[in-house]
Formats: sequence, structure tokens, C-alpha cells
Amino acid sequence: GLTGNKGWKPVWREPDPKPEYDIVIVGGGGHGLATAYYLAKEFGMRNIAVLEKGWIGSGNIGRNTTIIRSNYLLPGNEPFYEFSLRLWEGLEQDFNYNAMVSQRSILNLIHTDAQRDAFVRRGNAMILAGADAELADADQLRAELPFLDFDNARFPIKGGLYQRRGGTVRHDAVAWGYARGADSRGVDIIQNCEVTGFDIENGRCTGVQTSRGAIRARKVAVCVAGSSSRVMEKAGMRLPIESHVLQAFVTEGLKPVIPGVITFGAGHFYVSQSDKGGLVFGGDLDGYNSYAQRGNLPVVEDVAEGGMAIMPMIGRARLLRSWGGIMDMSMDGSPFIDKTGIDGLYFNGGWCYGGFKATPASGFCYAHLLARDEPHPTATQMRLDRFISGNLIDEKGMGNQPN
Ligand code: FAD
Repeated sequence: GLTGNKGWKPVWREPDPKPEYDIVIVGGGGHGLATAYYLAKEFGMRNIAVLEKGWIGSGNIGRNTTIIRSNYLLPGNEPFYEFSLRLWEGLEQDFNYNAMVSQRSILNLIHTDAQRDAFVRRGNAMILAGADAELADADQLRAELPFLDFDNARFPIKGGLYQRRGGTVRHDAVAWGYARGADSRGVDIIQNCEVTGFDIENGRCTGVQTSRGAIRARKVAVCVAGSSSRVMEKAGMRLPIESHVLQAFVTEGLKPVIPGVITFGAGHFYVSQSDKGGLVFGGDLDGYNSYAQRGNLPVVEDVAEGGMAIMPMIGRARLLRSWGGIMDMSMDGSPFIDKTGIDGLYFNGGWCYGGFKATPASGFCYAHLLARDEPHPTATQMRLDRFISGNLIDEKGMGNQPN
């Protein structure tokens, strides 16, 4: 089908690495590319390289279930995710690329009275931070989503918390849009270039060793998501992060049935419908630590059970594909955007299963930290030492919720 388009030009260059940059970003996922884009666009820095061991989009940015939302509770998180949602709302105009940003809503189902209380509190925290939140009762949901199993004996549906501005975004278009925007501002995106070590002299990071030779840098910014522990180990750092696989699934294309994103409140299952008609869904992590980008069957069964519990009609849909990606699970479910104890070395990670929605704000805030050496006002608590100081951002229930 593309034979008529032989004249198409690649939208970013394939440069060879230069011997030295002002900033070297390790990892060409969504966060690395967004960081490069905002460094160039908002902070006027151009002498930047993004080093990616595979091809851009080969990691989680191209594997996630595309959900965006800002329905967090805690002050350390909610303003940041709302900042991100606002950046999503203007993103396509900003980088002039169709990323199919679709604010089709997200609904968290409520199954108990205690859960309703918790969700009311969360909704109020969201509204206080400038986000939108709306409580729905069971009657409203029965009218809107008649295919849900309201009278399930174990998990009756008693209502839900809507965020109407939540939704989905075409994930790999996000990588391509940021890549093109960064490249056109002079950033070198260097694929097939694995960082194999850090040059650290007298407590200062002066560059990286790579599969394509040594590269010097004034600042080195790591954002390698599921590979965080393995990469930072090369700088002698041990992180409060474990890596696990998260799987996702898509069915054959169906007629439109699900208007937005729906999450199960009594187990791990969430679902939306893609523009091609496939039901896109996921659930819990594979429980063991792993760096393999594939999961195993017990979780497939567990996710399918979650789906059957809230929408039994999903049992009639045939599964087309499933895949896995590696999650950098932090111990309190919240991320890090911080300097390290080594001068010139910065770290961004711990996104757990929720870093796609964070992509714009993560890039913006990391760029802010790199350019000004100060955290962005919405990311002041995402510190690496919070497990020493005890200032956790313990967002169990949202940071720890897949999607
Ligand atoms: P990645 O795209 O993984 O980027 C990291 C890059 O670093 C990779 O390309 C990797 O190759 C590169 N790298 C690693 N080591 C090196 C090295 N030594 N040298 C050079 N490069 C290196 N989040 C949501 O908000 N909503 C969702 O619905 C959602 N669903 C998900 C579903 C699944 C199945 C998965 C797997 C994840 C999901 N997530 C979701 C989480 C989200 O995708 C991630 O948190 C986020 O994409 C991580 O940031 P990233 O895009 O920069 O990561």
C-alpha cells in the first residue's frame, strides 16, 4: 500500500553520535523524547542527544493501553497529573501531529459503600487541584452502560467516579510527534545505541559509554522505565524499584459498545474500545520480577476473570493479540524526577503501570530540572530520598492501579 509513497522522507534524521553534548538523555521512550522536545522548545537548549538501545517506540510507549487521566488523590501527585492532562489537551496543536487525543472519559466503578466514601474524597481532592470529577449512581450507570453486570453477587456495581476529561491517546504517535518536534529543533535521536556504563570522576558524571563509543556530556539524564534498576546499577546506585511485566490484550474489532474507559473497582481489570473497534484491556502484573517483555498464562486467566465479573459479554469476544512490557514499580506507587547523589547524573523513573499519561508532564518537569537545576513546582515531592526521609507519596489505589 505504501508503494505510491516512495518519495516520502523520514521525519527525523539518523545522525551519528557526536563526541560531546550538553545533555545526553538515556532512553528514547515517551519520557526521553518528551524531555528532549521540551528542553529544545521551552528551555532553548539544542545540543542534546537521545540515546536509545533499540528503536524509539520499542519500549512501553508503544506497548501501553493508551489511557490518560488525572484522577489521583495526594498533593504530591494530583497537580502533576493535572498539569499532564492539560498538556495532553494542547499537545496536537503544540507539536503539530495527530496523536488522536480522545477525551472519551474514564469511569472507576464503585462496589462497596466504603469505596464510595474513598472515591468521594478522591473526587474532592481532584476538584481542589483544578481537575474535573463527577460521581455517578447505579441508576445513571444502568442507563449509560447497560452491558455491565450490576447485580453480580460478589461485586455489585453501586456507582462510579467519572473523570470526563480522561480518555485515550494513540501511544506510538506520541513518540513520533515528540521525536519529530525534537529532531526539527536540532536534537540528535540516536537509535541502536545502548548505554553500557557511566564515566564518573570525583563524584561527577562526565559522560556515558555506549555500544557506539564514548560520549561526553555536561549532564546525563536517565529515563529508561523498566530498565531503571539495571541501568542505574552501572552508576553504582540501588533503587527502590522492582521490575515486573504488565500484559495487555486486544480483541477482534466490534461495533462501538464502550464509550470510554472503565475500570473494575474490586479487582484488576480495565477496558476501553479502540477506534478500530477492538476491546483493549489489561489487569494485574505478573507477580514475579522479570525483564522479559512477555508474560504468562495465570495472569491472562486472572484478567479474563476480572472482565467476566463486570461485563460477561466480553466472554463472546475473540482475543486477537496480547503482549507485555516491563514496569518500573516503585515501592509507594509514585515516580521519581530528581538529581542523584552523583553530580551531573539525573534520574526519571518509577512510573509503575501509569507512566503513559504522565509523558508530557514528565518530559516538561524533567526538562525544567535539567535546565534550571530546580524541580518544577508540580514535581517537588518526586524525590529519590523519600524512602530515607519517610516522605512517601503512598498512592495505593491510583498510582498502583494499572493504566
Ligand atoms: P519506554 O518506552 O519503555 O522507554 C524507555 C526506553 O529506554 C526504551 O525504549 C528502552 O529500549 C530504553 N533503554 C533501556 N535501557 C537502555 C540503555 N541501556 N541504553 C539506551 N536505552 C535504553 N500507562 C498509562 O498511563 N496508561 C496506560 O493505559 C498504561 N497501560 C500500560 C499497559 C501496558 C501493557 C504496559 C506495558 C504499560 C502501560 N502503562 C500505562 C505504563 C507506561 O507505558 C509506562 O509507564 C511509560 O511508557 C514508561 O515511560 P517511557 O515511555 O519513557 O518508557
